[in-house]
Amino acid sequence: MKNLMSCSICGNTFSEDSPEVAMPFCSQRCKLLDASRWLGEEYGLPIEDEESIQQPQEFSENHS
Ligand SMILES: [Zn+2]
Repeated sequence: MKNLMSCSICGNTFSEDSPEVAMPFCSQRCKLLDASRWLGEEYGLPIEDEESIQQPQEFSENHS
């Protein structure tokens, strides 16, 4: 059995010798996510999921 690590960003388990691993994260993507999270805190920016950044509803109910 390989020594499995648990990614603190996405929670995935991964093996240390996986080619995509960016220790201590499972991938470069998670490493960047972690970095951006720290940067966000440093600059006081709220880190939102893209899904939560949605256009305001423009379906006004003025069809009376
Ligand atoms: Zn991850």
